[in-house]
Amino acid sequence: MSAALYERLAARLGPKGFTTDAQIIAPHLQDWRGRPPGATPFLAAPASTEEVAAVVRLCAEAGAAITPQGGNTGLVGGQIPQGEVLLSLKRMNAIRSVDPVDDALVAEAGVVLARVQEAAAEADRLFPLSLASEGSATIGGLLSTNAGGVHVVRYGMMRELTLGLEVVLADGRILDALKSLRKDNTGYDLKQLFIGAEGTLGIITAASLKLFPRPRGRALAAASVTSAENALRLLEIAKTRTGALAAFEIMNRCVIDMTLKNVRNARAPIAGTFPYLALIEFEAASAEGLRERVEIALAEALETGIADGAVIAESEGQAKDFWFLREMASAGHKPEGAQINCDISVPVSRIPRFLETAGAAAERVCPGVRIVAFGHAGDGNIHYSLIQPEGADAAAFPAAALSEAAHDAAHALGGSISAEHGIGVSRKGELPRYKSGEALDLMRALKTALDPKGVLNPRALI
Ligand SMILES: Cc1cc2nc3c(=O)[nH]c(=O)nc-3n(C[C@H](O)[C@H](O)[C@H](O)COP(=O)(O)OP(=O)(O)OC[C@H]3O[C@@H](n4cnc5c(N)ncnc54)[C@H](O)[C@@H]3O)c2cc1C
Repeated sequence: MSAALYERLAARLGPKGFTTDAQIIAPHLQDWRGRPPGATPFLAAPASTEEVAAVVRLCAEAGAAITPQGGNTGLVGGQIPQGEVLLSLKRMNAIRSVDPVDDALVAEAGVVLARVQEAAAEADRLFPLSLASEGSATIGGLLSTNAGGVHVVRYGMMRELTLGLEVVLADGRILDALKSLRKDNTGYDLKQLFIGAEGTLGIITAASLKLFPRPRGRALAAASVTSAENALRLLEIAKTRTGALAAFEIMNRCVIDMTLKNVRNARAPIAGTFPYLALIEFEAASAEGLRERVEIALAEALETGIADGAVIAESEGQAKDFWFLREMASAGHKPEGAQINCDISVPVSRIPRFLETAGAAAERVCPGVRIVAFGHAGDGNIHYSLIQPEGADAAAFPAAALSEAAHDAAHALGGSISAEHGIGVSRKGELPRYKSGEALDLMRALKTALDPKGVLNPRALI
């Protein structure tokens, strides 16, 4: 990295926005999965859109590549530099406006999701995106990975929750598309190019986000089911008998047991050794009649043998307890040894077939492999981890072959190898196997058109 670039960035950003201090930089180089740390000559942390634009312009002029980073909770390594300039958006943390008439909230890229949820609630509105990393993940990172989480079944992913964006382009110009319009048919929907682009096409500096009325009625139920097929039957009942389905999550036996074993204070809402637990959240404008409808749905599931146990959380504390088990599922199986963590989606109807075929294929590759399956079954997204057999040699774990087996199984069912985490660097090598040549050509053409010098996150995605 040139000394001239160093001097220009240091002068433009000042001591609060620029550092080479290894101690300050270290946490930015280590990801949640604990992969080997990254490397960077310096950390640039601009505090305004103009400063972000200056950083990008100076880097582009110097031919230096940039890795953008928000909360560093990404699970596919796209936010970890390997020699690039590390551009942290964490200091861009203002909520610029909250408008309950427009039902729109404008937040800068570095605002943490939990803060956006709070600001919406203060205006008697809901921002519905919700995921286990919401205390650290930022709006810029959530947009760049098109994050999903538990409420997609009712509200959609970040793509559906975004009205407008402000983006710094690869040459340092600022694209102001920060509108709060529900309707705008004036050509290509440019904001969508940057959502899910993992920082490869532009640096998102602010977003206008959709707000919703705050539901006054909420209920959370847990049910034990004997098979994945029955989990889908339960989903159908929960959806159609209540009209209020907001989340439908499942956990298989293996991940329930590992989470109970490895996470302090984790408790199962229902005792027993059933194969799947479903966690079902309901929301309605008013609390009136909601519980009754949920009870009718659960009674039907029990009477027809779809579920063999069911319980409704009786207090907010109990609801938090139910959610805690699900939210700790990733942390719960992380200590169990060598593993691969897939984030697949298939059409909802094919979840049981995926579990069957992927499980059989994984067992053929690695007899005794432990299979963790949990996640957002209501929208077809299963977090699927394959973990070394108990007591096996971690060095002999056939990670690549297992990953291929699981991804092939999803692909064969019309699924995706990345439902909500993105491709980053860890799945980049697999993309050509599952994306068509035409799709890859178009992605490369977009990258070349928007970032001809390859300044923005050049090792990620494409
Ligand atoms: C315990 C746990 C649970 C999780 N659960 C879910 C879940 O349920 N659903 C889900 O979708 N994800 C989940 N994630 C993944 C993660 O939280 C999301 O990917 C999140 O969107 C990343 O946000 P971040 O601010 O941490 O971004 P980072 O990790 O910092 O970056 C992610 C990507 O976005 C790019 N980027 C960051 N900021 C910008 C910007 N301003 N402009 C352009 N590019 C940028 C980075 O270069 C990188 O490629 C989970 C993660 C953890 C650790």
